[in-house]
Amino acid sequence: DNFIVAVDGPAGSGKSTISKIVAKEYDLTYLDTGAMYRMVALCSLENNVDLKDRGAVSEMLDGIKLDIQGEKFILNGKDVSHDIRTPRVTAIVSDVAAIKEVRVKLVDLQREISKGKKVILDGRDIGTVVFPNAHLKVFLVASAEERANRRLKEYKEKGIDISFQEVLESIQNRDHIDSTREESPLKKAEDALEVDTSSKTIEEVCNKISALIEA
Ligand code: C5P
Repeated sequence: DNFIVAVDGPAGSGKSTISKIVAKEYDLTYLDTGAMYRMVALCSLENNVDLKDRGAVSEMLDGIKLDIQGEKFILNGKDVSHDIRTPRVTAIVSDVAAIKEVRVKLVDLQREISKGKKVILDGRDIGTVVFPNAHLKVFLVASAEERANRRLKEYKEKGIDISFQEVLESIQNRDHIDSTREESPLKKAEDALEVDTSSKTIEEVCNKISALIEA
């Protein structure tokens, strides 16, 4: 029997951290859909695909092989788990995710992977488009400054040299593209529970979600 938890929200709102913990607690499969868009973005960079050339984009999508093994992401046979988190991929991923053909392909794949399973998916359109009938929908938010600080910390831990201002601008740029694009823009599903994670601990947010799962 399948059971779907949809976790949506902007970059750095805490989706992946929270989803991983909840997945462990309830033995759910965790699917990071942002990583899938990142894999397509990386593939476009590696093959110098012109994003405005629809034919070239379609050709890339026809030949792409995305293999997801938990938190390991394999693009055309190569482990790209680290490469997809670099600033150069982050800089273009929202433009790639705004392309209709890319979304059609990845939404299909997300449904396919989730078939017959108990899954928690994090993304931007899970509760609105991918699984509008999800059993539980959560929409996480936090101030742009708080989100930029969280991402800056992650970059520092990976040894990536970037300033707070650069991270903040990159987040605001993605927020803008993600929420104004034509194809399934980022928005809260009407029946989603909105949680502001700015002033809450990870534990507090997880407890809120646990209470809903057990309700
Ligand atoms: O979650 P993450 O920040 O890794 O996502 C990277 C980008 O992928 C987002 O900024 C957004 O443009 C896109 N995305 C999307 N729909 C999803 C997940 C991610 O458009 N379900």
